[in-house]
Amino acid sequence: MAKDTVLAIAVPCYNEAELIKSTTERLLEVLYDLEKKEKISDKSYIYLVDDGSTDDTWLEIGYSVARNPNKIKACKYSTNFGNQKALLGGLLQAKKIGCSAVVTIDADLQQDENKIEEFIDKFDQGYKIVFGVRKDRKTDDFFKKTSALAFYKVMSINGVKIPKNHSDYRLVSREVLEVLEKFSESELFLRGFFHEIGFSKAIVYFDVKPRKIGKSKFNFFSLLALATHGITSYSIVPLKMICIMGFLTMLFGFLTGIWAIAAKFIYHTSPDGWSEAMIITSFFGGFEVFCIGIVAEYLGQIFREVKKRPRYLIEEELL
Ligand code: UDP
Ligand code: MG
Repeated sequence: MAKDTVLAIAVPCYNEAELIKSTTERLLEVLYDLEKKEKISDKSYIYLVDDGSTDDTWLEIGYSVARNPNKIKACKYSTNFGNQKALLGGLLQAKKIGCSAVVTIDADLQQDENKIEEFIDKFDQGYKIVFGVRKDRKTDDFFKKTSALAFYKVMSINGVKIPKNHSDYRLVSREVLEVLEKFSESELFLRGFFHEIGFSKAIVYFDVKPRKIGKSKFNFFSLLALATHGITSYSIVPLKMICIMGFLTMLFGFLTGIWAIAAKFIYHTSPDGWSEAMIITSFFGGFEVFCIGIVAEYLGQIFREVKKRPRYLIEEELL
């Protein structure tokens, strides 16, 4: 049975020209090894998604496809749609071409590609989703480590359940891809999605390697955007929190009012109040705008969803 498993390895690539050759060669070795062990079919392949790169990524992909026409397929997005959409395209296009399961992995192979064998073993045992979870964060710098920690904490406070330390390195079976296709959300947060939809799941632990060439495509702002997006697409806890905080502030305002009246009529000491007034006004001014900001995030989500624009545009495909 295992020999019939057609495995697709989907790789999002954004400005990774220097890495395409070495990455595809390494992933081919992994495929050939699994084929030799009769764990997967020889129809298995690699699917590269060029996420609108501005360097020679597409050229390098073209060379790789020319060297291995049966084993490597690829598409080029018309512009940069971001890592989540590149992953989504990899999954959906691979399903369209045909496969029993897809593994998504980063182009820099920071995630240990040797673990794909364990993914397949879990798949053979009947698991429909296999999450790759990193053992530790030794390779991360202080900023990445702290922000990741804060990310998982904020996510869990907000009720978004995602496996900790899982970045989109995972295997999903064909049945799950069929479900994924039915979710037409334009801003799908994949980590939340695969965790929420059910199905039998397994975890494989791996060590993260440092990036060999080039640098991370994520900075503080893109990580913040991913976190905000993850929360607002999977939880309405922030909206509920506004409601509770609004009530508490109102209560505070009410009590302050009673205090002011009592001060005036009972103690006959009108508070001089300038600094208190300034502090309270600026605090609540800022607080209100912050709350409007949270509501605006949700409004933004609705705005993007109602337009139902295509989630990615493919300019060219090499099959
Ligand atoms: N990536 C992408 N589109 C983007 C940004 C990144 O397809 O807009 C790809 C990138 O080429 C890589 C993966 O997403 O294969 C993860 O990116 P990176 O290694 O920079 O992230 P990090 O390891 O720092 O989390
Ligand atoms: Mg990386």
